[in-house]
Amino acid sequence: MHISRCRFLSSLPSTSSFCSFRSPQRRHFFRSAKCQFTRSLHWKMPAHQEETLLPETGYSTKVDNASQCIDLRSDTVTLPSAEMKKAMVEAILGDDVFGEDPTVNQLEKRCAALFGKEAALFVLSGTMGNLLAVLSHCQRGDELIVGRHNHIHKWEQGNYAQLGGISATTLKVNPDGTMDPNDIEDAIRANDQHMPRTALVCIENTHNFAGGKALSTDYLKSVRKLADKHKLKVHMDGARIYNAAIALNVDVSEICSYVDSMMMCFSKGLGAPMGSILVGTRQFIDEARKKRKAVGGGWRQAGILAACANLALDRAVETIERDHRHAKLLAKGINERTPEALKSSIHADEKDITNMVLVTCKDKVTTSQVVAFFQSHSILFMAFDSSRIRIVLNWGVCENDLHKILDIYQTFVDSIKI
Ligand SMILES: *Cc1c(COP(=O)(O)O)cnc(C)c1O
Repeated sequence: MHISRCRFLSSLPSTSSFCSFRSPQRRHFFRSAKCQFTRSLHWKMPAHQEETLLPETGYSTKVDNASQCIDLRSDTVTLPSAEMKKAMVEAILGDDVFGEDPTVNQLEKRCAALFGKEAALFVLSGTMGNLLAVLSHCQRGDELIVGRHNHIHKWEQGNYAQLGGISATTLKVNPDGTMDPNDIEDAIRANDQHMPRTALVCIENTHNFAGGKALSTDYLKSVRKLADKHKLKVHMDGARIYNAAIALNVDVSEICSYVDSMMMCFSKGLGAPMGSILVGTRQFIDEARKKRKAVGGGWRQAGILAACANLALDRAVETIERDHRHAKLLAKGINERTPEALKSSIHADEKDITNMVLVTCKDKVTTSQVVAFFQSHSILFMAFDSSRIRIVLNWGVCENDLHKILDIYQTFVDSIKI
């Protein structure tokens, strides 16, 4: 039995408020209507399947009934608001390959100004934006420097090598998402015929695998200084740059002032259905636009998506601040409910968190056990690696949901034999 949340919502009285979907009342109506039958449909994972059904170190996990759950697997799971759907229908469109889609052109102009760069390019995904940045900064045979836990290296198939003939030196990533400047400097190649030319340093802000940690502006300054000294470019994977800006209490343009190029996703915490933006100098963006066509990313009436992206930007600060507030409440609530005897077995990181809560499990508790328990109560988390669960707040999660999650957590810890 599967009813998409989207179709269900469109049968509700229409509204133009972006927040409508998040309104506790509406969510309650929506959920209570469905919970009545989902409760009876609750499936329990057979014990012998538990290990094989759950991902070991996977980055994605599939469930049949996601639309009936409180979904905290990612900030990508949100559905477009009624306001976004209306904007899609009403968007003024044209052929973007001809440069004639006014909604896309407006979004690109707005983003260039917002991030303090000369130009911007609207692209299909974050992966495409990062790839175009790398291809535009580097020549075939060049090398880039990247953290081994950075998205660009870990989750984009090594596309820089696969499609660009570019090699990488991968560096250790600290728990705060930084690479040591000394390690970066050590990795820069000498001008020697045996070696590739080092062209680019890639950083990530906020750092996903570090649990959404923001890189401090002091750190960004030190990377900039190093790059200038060695005549390197710096690209920032800023999929979640708004989360960084709000955590650091600085403007997104200040963060971007330390890098040559930056990619941001509209499809993460900002809540748009798809699309990312790449910003940099005019020359860099012209180059990226040309490469975008080569990888099949020249799209036509993309204004339907740019319209959603524009709305997502209008609400960015409000949305992200709310997610951060929720993440703090959740992390604190989890630790408060953890009995003394389990404190070393399950712990939520509360330090400098943004929109993610990383829960570390060991000894008496396993990640798959926690994920399965919550899933059996229609709450979805993601096993991030063998010892960590990633819980990502997003605008589909309201404050009532937090109480429900914490109640279920209480039931969970009560069920563990200490
Ligand atoms: C999601 C993500 C990307 C890639 O975005 P897609 O739109 O999924 O291709 C890149 N970097 C980081 C840090 C991300 O979290």
